[in-house]
Amino acid sequence: MFSNSLIELDRAHLIHPVASYRGHENLGVRVLTSAFGATVTDANGKQLIDGFAGLWCVNAGYGHDSIVEAAAKQMRELPYATAYFGLGSEPAIRLASELADRAPGDLNHVYFTLGGSDAVDSTIRFIRYYWNARGRPGKDQFISIEQGYHGSSTVGAGLTALPAFHAGFGLPFDWQHKIPSHYAYRNPVGTEPEAIIAASIAALKQKIEELGGAERVAAFYAEPIQGSGGVLVPPKGWMKAMRAVCRELDILFVADEVITGFGRTGPLFACSEDDIVPDLLTVAKGLTSGYVPMGALFMSEHVYQTIADGAGTSAVGHGYTYSAHPVSAAVGLEVLRLYEDGLLENGRRAGARLMAGLESLKDHPLVGDVRGRGMLAAIELVVDKERKTPLPAAAEPARRIFDRAWNNGLVIRAFANGVLGYAPPLCCTEAEIDAIVERTRRTLDETL
Ligand code: PLP
Repeated sequence: MFSNSLIELDRAHLIHPVASYRGHENLGVRVLTSAFGATVTDANGKQLIDGFAGLWCVNAGYGHDSIVEAAAKQMRELPYATAYFGLGSEPAIRLASELADRAPGDLNHVYFTLGGSDAVDSTIRFIRYYWNARGRPGKDQFISIEQGYHGSSTVGAGLTALPAFHAGFGLPFDWQHKIPSHYAYRNPVGTEPEAIIAASIAALKQKIEELGGAERVAAFYAEPIQGSGGVLVPPKGWMKAMRAVCRELDILFVADEVITGFGRTGPLFACSEDDIVPDLLTVAKGLTSGYVPMGALFMSEHVYQTIADGAGTSAVGHGYTYSAHPVSAAVGLEVLRLYEDGLLENGRRAGARLMAGLESLKDHPLVGDVRGRGMLAAIELVVDKERKTPLPAAAEPARRIFDRAWNNGLVIRAFANGVLGYAPPLCCTEAEIDAIVERTRRTLDETL
């Protein structure tokens, strides 16, 4: 049995992200001690299938010795090298080059960060630099989407549309604007793809007008699939249509692939499937499969060259001590090798099985909607399918559903609005996918 003293130390000293500080005191922490493949083990020895790959990040699965070796080798040889002062390290240069080779279109220039929030945050700074360099400083308004999540940095959180990230902070985001989500299950224009796409185009154009026209708008941000908003999958063609509006109006289009990147929806980049090339693209999570922190942003040729021309021989003043960290880059290189050595393929097969399995839950009285692409999926629970009445949060708090799934040997994400999120490691076997579905059904049977 696990010692209670660690739980007490946690209560006393560790501040958890996006948690009720009082609730966390009362609930206690579940400590994980080891993991292998898609299975995690808690401090009581209980084994669970990690249906959420940590926080949608351990795409390769746990326990890859080759990743550990890559990190250890790099730590022994050169644990740190700054990328300031014209210095560099081989793994960072090689990873940038390998990624640029695989990124859609001319997204040839890679800036490494520590995670997704600072990757998004960095795009905001670079985009402002870009428009100033083009002599159009008035383009200083940014547009993103309701239910969107773009991280938790002081500036970048402005793009995030989830209320919990704003309540109580009182930070001004008057440069930041939102349009409604494409959320098909609860869309006032209905579920028809054409209607949803037309509504989004109209909403974006109207927002641009309200802001004083394209002369005022710097950029539009979209996730290929809205993750933290509840795994909201836009209709096919939606990204392409929004990209086209931005191109037509000379507004930069940023694809935030922090969740969708690196095989989560099938290919390395979801944008390839959407058949678009954004002006900038952000990644993190699957880049290192969560083994060490790292994020990145890609700049297309024209964004990079405009910033370079604007700066001339002056330094572009944006950087972190840990930009292009050699250990993270060495891990990134090995993870990339694994993706291409069968993981992406396995993820595609497992993703099809996961979607079919979750679809089979539609006969359950609580399942109102099933949605997803590849190894990124959600089911939405309702108490009345006809009326789409949401699960009452007071009677069925997310934590209770999470706990039930946990007891059934499954880690899922239980969102507050009765949505259950799935993002298992791409290495899942068929038996593990089937177990995810079966344990979900058991969890639903025990709910309400
Ligand atoms: N952008 C998206 C789309 C995300 O889903 C996330 C995190 O979930 C972020 C940005 C922020 O990334 P991080 O938590 O690594 O800072």
